[in-house]
Amino acid sequence: MSRESNADVIVAGSGNAAMSAALAAAEAGASVVVLEKAPRAEAGGNTWYTAGAYRTPHGGIDDLGALLSDPADARLAATELSSYAEADFRADLERLTDGRCDPLMADVLVGDARGSIDWLHGHGVGFELMYHRQAYALDGGGHRFWGNLALGVVGGGKGLVAQQLETARALGVEVVYEAGVVGLERDGDGAIAGVETADGRRWAAPAVVLACGGFQADPALRARHLGDRWRAAKVRGTGHNTGEALLAALDAGAARAGDWGSCHSVAWDVDAPPHGGDRELTNRFTKQSYPLGIVVNLAGERFVDEGSDFRNYTYARLGAAIIEQPQATAVQLFDGKTKPLLRDDEYTVPGIVRHEAGDLRSLARAAGIDPDGLERTVRAFNAAVRAGPFDPTAKDGKGTDGIEPPKSNWAQPLDRAPYVAVTVTCGITFTFGGLRIDADGRVLDERAAPIAGLFAAGEIAGGLFAGNYPGGSGLTAGTVFGRRAGHSAATAVIGPDPAPRAAGAQQEGVAS
Ligand SMILES: Cc1cc2nc3c(=O)[nH]c(=O)nc-3n(C[C@H](O)[C@H](O)[C@H](O)COP(=O)(O)OP(=O)(O)OC[C@H]3O[C@@H](n4cnc5c(N)ncnc54)[C@H](O)[C@@H]3O)c2cc1C
Repeated sequence: MSRESNADVIVAGSGNAAMSAALAAAEAGASVVVLEKAPRAEAGGNTWYTAGAYRTPHGGIDDLGALLSDPADARLAATELSSYAEADFRADLERLTDGRCDPLMADVLVGDARGSIDWLHGHGVGFELMYHRQAYALDGGGHRFWGNLALGVVGGGKGLVAQQLETARALGVEVVYEAGVVGLERDGDGAIAGVETADGRRWAAPAVVLACGGFQADPALRARHLGDRWRAAKVRGTGHNTGEALLAALDAGAARAGDWGSCHSVAWDVDAPPHGGDRELTNRFTKQSYPLGIVVNLAGERFVDEGSDFRNYTYARLGAAIIEQPQATAVQLFDGKTKPLLRDDEYTVPGIVRHEAGDLRSLARAAGIDPDGLERTVRAFNAAVRAGPFDPTAKDGKGTDGIEPPKSNWAQPLDRAPYVAVTVTCGITFTFGGLRIDADGRVLDERAAPIAGLFAAGEIAGGLFAGNYPGGSGLTAGTVFGRRAGHSAATAVIGPDPAPRAAGAQQEGVAS
C-alpha cells in the first residue's frame, strides 16, 4: 500500500463528531489526520448548518453560568430556567423513541453529556443561553425558558466548526479536504489498517474513526430504507452525507444498529434549495412555530396534533407527517394574536412562501389551499377550543375537545386578522440507522465483537434515536461519542498513558 500518511489515527469527516474525536485523540497524544470529503468551502457537515443547540442535564442558571461566554449578561438576573435532571433526559429518550433507544448508548449519552460539554468548553467553544429560540419574554419583564433546551454555541454551527478547527490545528491535527473515504483497508490479521479515498489514494493508520454522518443526502438510499416518497424530501444540511463510508464499514463486517426505517425530518420552506441546504441561511428555512397555530394540507385538513408537546419534542417527526400529504406539502396558519410570537429569523427568511390576508378564504386562495376545506376545518377547530389562559412557556392544557386530531396545548381560535399562511414541505436532517458501536465508540460486528482498529461516532452510528428525537441531542451525542471514539482510537494505538500533545504541536509526514 502506498502511504499517504503515517498518522496514528485517521478521522473521516469534519463535523462535530469528527472534530470531537480528532481533539480527543490528539490530546491523548496521537498524531491525527482528518480526511474530509468536501472541499474546504463546503466542509463542516450538518454541524455547520445547526443552531448549535446542545441538550444537557443541568441544575439551572447558576449551574450553566460557568459555561457562558457572557456571564455578566444583564438578562440572567430576570430569567427563569428550570433544572433538567439526568433522569429527565433519559426519560425523554425512552419516551420519544417508544423505548427503542439502545439502553447502553442512552445511558452513556445522558451520563456523559455535561462532562463532554465542559470538555468542549475547555477547548475554547463558547456557550450562551438561546434567548432568541428557546425563551419567551414575560409580560412583567424577564424571560422564561421552555422545553429543556437552553444551551447553544456562540455563533451557532458556524461558530462551533470554526472553533473546533482552530483548536484541532493548534493540537497538530492535519485536515485534508476533498478526500472522501470509500473503502477500508485491512491487514493480514483482519484489523483495519487504513482507508481508500475516492481519488484512489490509500491512507495507512492503525486506527480509523468514521464520523461521516448519515445517508440522508443520497436519494436512492433514502428510497431504499425510508420508502419511495423520501426521494421528494429536501436535504436540510450538507449534500455530502451520502453513506459511502457507512457502506464500506458494513462491507468490512460492521453490524447495523438502530432504526434504518426512520429519520429526523422537519417542516422546511417549500422553496428552499432541494439538495444540500444554503450555507449562509442554514437553519432559517426551518419553520418551528407551528405549536402556536394549526397545520393543514392542501385540502385544508389538519393531520397532526400541533400541540402534543413542546416543539423540541415534536419537530423532528413533523417532516415525516408532511411527506405523507398530497404533494408532500403543508401550510402553517397563524392569526393576528400569534403572528407576533413567530420566530423572527425563520419566518422572515428571504424567499419564504408566506401569505397574509384579511380573511381565511382569501388566504386559502393565495396559498393554494381548498377554501371550502379550510373554512370547514377552522370553523370546527375554533368551536372545539377550550376556554382558559394561553401560555406558550408551559404545557398550558388549553386544548380542543371533540375533533380529530386534537390539539392538546396552546389552542386558540383563528379569528383575528391578519391571517398568515406559510407553506412548507419535508426537510430531512439525518437518518437514524447506522453502525453498531459500543460505549467506547468501537465498531462491532454481527457477533458484537469489536472490529480491531475501527471506531465510529455521530450520525453514522445507529441506536440512539428511532421515530423521534429530543431537540439538541445530535450535537451532544456527537461530542460524547466522538470524544470517546477518539480517545479509544488513540489509546488502542499508543497505549493508555501517552505523553499529551501540546498546543502548537505539528505533525510530520502527512500529504495534503
Ligand atoms: C439545519 C440543521 C440544524 C440542526 N440543528 C441542530 C442543533 O441545533 N442541535 C443539534 O443537536 N443537532 C442539530 N442538527 C442535527 C445535526 O445534524 C447533528 O447534531 C450534528 O451536527 C451531526 O454531526 P456529525 O458530526 O455526526 O455529522 P456532520 O456534521 O454531518 O459531519 C459529517 C462529515 O462527514 C463528511 N463526510 C461525509 N461522507 C464522507 C466520506 N465518505 N469521507 C469523509 N468525509 C465524509 C461530511 O462532509 C461532513 O463534514 C441540525 C441539523 C441541520 C441540518
